[in-house]
Amino acid sequence: MTSVLVVGGGIAGLVAARSAALAGADVVLLEGAERLGGAVAGIELAGVPVDTGAESLAARGGTALALLSALGLTPVPPAPSGAWLQNARGAYPLPAAGVLGIPAFPLAADVRAVIGTRAAMRAWADRLLPELTVGRERNLGALVRRRMGARVLEELVAPVVGNVYAVNPDEADVESLVPLLNGELTRTGSLSSAVLALRAAAPAGSAVVGLPGGMVTLVAALERELGRFGVGTRTGSPVTAVERVGEKWRVQTAAEALEADRVVVASDGASARALLAPLLPAAPLAGWPEPHGTTVVSLVLDAPSLDSFPRGSGVLVARGVDSVAARALTHSSAKWPWLAALLPPGRHVVRLSYRTVAGFGSRPIDAGDLALSDAARLLDVRRTELNLVDWAITEWRQESQRALLGVRARIEAVRAAALGLEGLDLTGAWLAGTGLASVIADADRAGRGD
Ligand SMILES: Cc1cc2nc3c(=O)[nH]c(=O)nc-3n(C[C@H](O)[C@H](O)[C@H](O)COP(=O)(O)OP(=O)(O)OC[C@H]3O[C@@H](n4cnc5c(N)ncnc54)[C@H](O)[C@@H]3O)c2cc1C
Repeated sequence: MTSVLVVGGGIAGLVAARSAALAGADVVLLEGAERLGGAVAGIELAGVPVDTGAESLAARGGTALALLSALGLTPVPPAPSGAWLQNARGAYPLPAAGVLGIPAFPLAADVRAVIGTRAAMRAWADRLLPELTVGRERNLGALVRRRMGARVLEELVAPVVGNVYAVNPDEADVESLVPLLNGELTRTGSLSSAVLALRAAAPAGSAVVGLPGGMVTLVAALERELGRFGVGTRTGSPVTAVERVGEKWRVQTAAEALEADRVVVASDGASARALLAPLLPAAPLAGWPEPHGTTVVSLVLDAPSLDSFPRGSGVLVARGVDSVAARALTHSSAKWPWLAALLPPGRHVVRLSYRTVAGFGSRPIDAGDLALSDAARLLDVRRTELNLVDWAITEWRQESQRALLGVRARIEAVRAAALGLEGLDLTGAWLAGTGLASVIADADRAGRGD
């Protein structure tokens, strides 16, 4: 029987371990922290489960949905209320027909409401510009600015891309974010037509799904399944070295050295690159952009004035809005009916995301206070109407580098170098891209050793 060691017990490591065990291997998973799940994590606040990290996954990921089904989990769509966008002038429902915030119908009323008629006319002129038959624009910001103007970029695209992928569109790689966009641009001749074609090709239904009980139930289900498969799972076991010893791989922790036929490195990017440094050429491992720091503040509020869900499922904040520090707010109990059903009348769960700034998390009282003020502004209620029942603050480092210009080539170089080492597989968000659907599909492949 082949033996496999998996380093890291986030979703990537858990899925890789499961896929290796399903392929008949004898598997041991080593996780540095005291709990499994990595960036999929939950907390109980005022008696209800609240996701503090990932809370949904892309419904288009065939592997991810198949995994949920195999684990007996039933994904649920969010409530159809939709999100809003806050810019310096006001708050507006996020335009319905778009990709990454790029509108398919620049003159639609919901687009004009956000950017104004003049900017909408400029965006519509995209259809009159010379066709993009040759040459591929890789910089998303440059592409949108040139085709549709700065307002579309600043007020529609930047808030969506910043919040979903945690990157600035001026640093984002079109090919990484929407691999089919350039092809559609060449085929249809304009950006809005390309977006329309992509929308038409997407299957009907919600773009994301959640899980009753929170995304953290995925971690619990994977943990149960690994137990059933006899996978040895060791938490509190940070791996300090991975080395080739003859035909075997040896993995070192503070407590022990383990050997196996294969090793899957599924830890976060910084840890994985440090472990791989003695094994792979230095160049593709050096000079990686830092992961993006995100602070999530979760609030449980008694606030009957939120019963009408004044901003639908939440608010994305455009650049240049100085009146709030948060970059996004999710009205979790409006977005997820399963969560609302657990709450007494008038109680709400709201989550705010901040770009982490030094010292933010070390001033929890200020952070809670700031989050309450931001929640009141973004939800358009008075601060006195929000009665704080419970709250939590969580710091994350988000592996969003794959979306950045130039990083795809690095990823390919790392993967190519690893191919030269028999029995070594790499996975995780730093290679697969942020987003659970991509992480799950890549980890499944790595676990099977494909
Ligand atoms: C705030 C936030 C919100 C998000 N929201 C969404 C969302 O709604 N939808 C979505 O699809 N995606 C979302 N994401 C992205 C998604 O959660 C991640 O891409 C995914 O969980 C990454 O999984 P991973 O296993 O690759 O990495 P991680 O979750 O980072 O796991 C890596 C694991 O390796 C362990 N480790 C590190 N070093 C070692 C070592 N030396 N030895 C052993 N173990 C080690 C770590 O402790 C960790 O458990 C969000 C991310 C964040 C931070």
